[in-house]
Amino acid sequence: MKLYAPKYYRNFKCIADKCKHSCCIGWEIDIDKTALRKYKKLKGGYGDVISDSISMEETPHFKLGEHDRCPHLDEFGLCKIIINVGEDYLCDICREHPRFYNYTSVAEVGLGMSCEEAARVILSSSDYDEFECIGEVDIEENTDFNGLAARGEIYKILRNAKDYKKGLKEIYSKYQIDVCKDEKWLEALDSLEYLDEKHRKLFGNYSSKNRPDLKYDKYLERFLAYLIYRHTTEAVDYDDFVLRLSFCLFCERLFASLMCFKKAEELNDVATLARIISEEIEYSEDNTEALMY
Ligand code: SF4
Repeated sequence: MKLYAPKYYRNFKCIADKCKHSCCIGWEIDIDKTALRKYKKLKGGYGDVISDSISMEETPHFKLGEHDRCPHLDEFGLCKIIINVGEDYLCDICREHPRFYNYTSVAEVGLGMSCEEAARVILSSSDYDEFECIGEVDIEENTDFNGLAARGEIYKILRNAKDYKKGLKEIYSKYQIDVCKDEKWLEALDSLEYLDEKHRKLFGNYSSKNRPDLKYDKYLERFLAYLIYRHTTEAVDYDDFVLRLSFCLFCERLFASLMCFKKAEELNDVATLARIISEEIEYSEDNTEALMY
């Protein structure tokens, strides 16, 4: 099966030691079977350090250090596994982050916004609906529902609309999506589990009425297009597609509210808000589920 990626995908490169919100801090890193086998074969030197850093409780994972840091992250923000034994020894999660995959009649790879550099790349790229083949993968087709075509329809509306606001209006109306009362969403946001408690307060600034100046619509459009790419493509049927789309539109309204509240205008500030929404909501299955109704 062919593997496709958005054109902006090739512009991404991990910024490692320059990253302010490293994915090597704050997340539990599970170790896949292949990597675990490789680690077990490494004897002496850094191999022993790796062995000592693994917890076999439930799913094998690295024991996090102080401030939830990966034990292999050095003081310069570099990975000691890469430095000492080479990139081939990274476990799947570390090698793949921040990538995600969609499997339909084709395979697709994307960049997740919980990575600050990925957020900057996505929000600065206008070609969100252009894709290119970057290889092949050995995966069976999943063609229950044509999520690619359904997603394409939305991209077409956004592209053909006179402006972003009109495109959005058409999407809400075509798919009969109700914005719902703000109170309902605020209650749902307050019920979520947060990685950082101060984001509960930040998300309390949600209001469907707050939208930044029109000149920042490009960021809202790219954010929405990213969410649609990530969350609707694997829908199992039309109803599921609309449910997922409704979730994407809510996240877009939350993003718009936070941009207003924080007066975010520069790409870095806008990308920070996108990263926070991504890591708190879409990177938590429970939180995503709680907001998908
Ligand atoms: S969050 Fe992104 S840029 Fe930062 S260390 Fe992880 S992959 Fe690299």
